[in-house]
Amino acid sequence: MKSNARVVVIGGGIGGVSTLYHLTQEGWSDVVLVERDELTSGSTWHAAAQVTQFGSNQTMVALKRHSIDLYRELASDPEYPINYHITGGMRLAYTPTQVDVYQHYIGMAAGVGVDLEFIDADEVENRHPLIRTHELVGAWWDPLDGDIDPAQLVFALARRARKADAEIYRFNPVEAITRKPNGEFIVHTKNGSICCEMIVNASGYRVNEVGSMLGVSHPVVSMEHMYF
Ligand SMILES: Cc1cc2nc3c(=O)[nH]c(=O)nc-3n(C[C@H](O)[C@H](O)[C@H](O)COP(=O)(O)OP(=O)(O)OC[C@H]3O[C@@H](n4cnc5c(N)ncnc54)[C@H](O)[C@@H]3O)c2cc1C
Repeated sequence: MKSNARVVVIGGGIGGVSTLYHLTQEGWSDVVLVERDELTSGSTWHAAAQVTQFGSNQTMVALKRHSIDLYRELASDPEYPINYHITGGMRLAYTPTQVDVYQHYIGMAAGVGVDLEFIDADEVENRHPLIRTHELVGAWWDPLDGDIDPAQLVFALARRARKADAEIYRFNPVEAITRKPNGEFIVHTKNGSICCEMIVNASGYRVNEVGSMLGVSHPVVSMEHMYF
């Protein structure tokens, strides 16, 4: 394990591994990721992993579009193909207010080059005959809605990051973080310490456990719940 790196990413879910990969794409090869367990062992592996383009602002829409373009490219990589299905998807509108909101989102997305469409109830039935369309005004159609295998995605990004000289240390929890007088951080892990310029806290629902090592409190709460 390295004892020095420019960046230490803490957490091997989609957030951390994607950050590591994108740093390498920006030419930062002196970057490492530390994961307490196996990659994807946090929330990521059990996501339904629906991939959408909608967002409440143009930054989120453009970020999601970037992800879709990247996932398409990864899925078609013959060396390491992953399961990614683009099916298209609808969000149903039953009231004029919902139509107004959807039209607002469609216009906002068009501003960053993302084409979404509002379709009337007849066209909804045409595209999905099993939907009950009485009382339906229409729907917002996203041609690029889809789903992906979240674990395969993480491993595909990790593979590319490693190829670009990033290193990943699994089964290696971060136990403490201290700071040197010159501002550098020392990340203390089960298997040794790494001195670095920057830390990315991508520890998911443990974000405040890691944050507290730096005296930082993030305004989020982790909730355990059943899904489906
Ligand atoms: C049931 C379910 C369905 C979902 N469906 C969707 C969906 O359809 N579409 C969608 O976009 N999102 C969905 N999500 C949300 C999505 O899964 C999460 O937003 C995403 O996986 C969070 O990724 P992350 O990298 O931030 O966190 P995580 O995946 O939790 O990764 C954090 C990592 O940090 C590691 N870690 C924590 N503490 C330390 C430490 N001290 N040292 C080292 N490593 C540490 C953990 O082990 C973990 O691997 C769903 C989530 C769930 C639970």
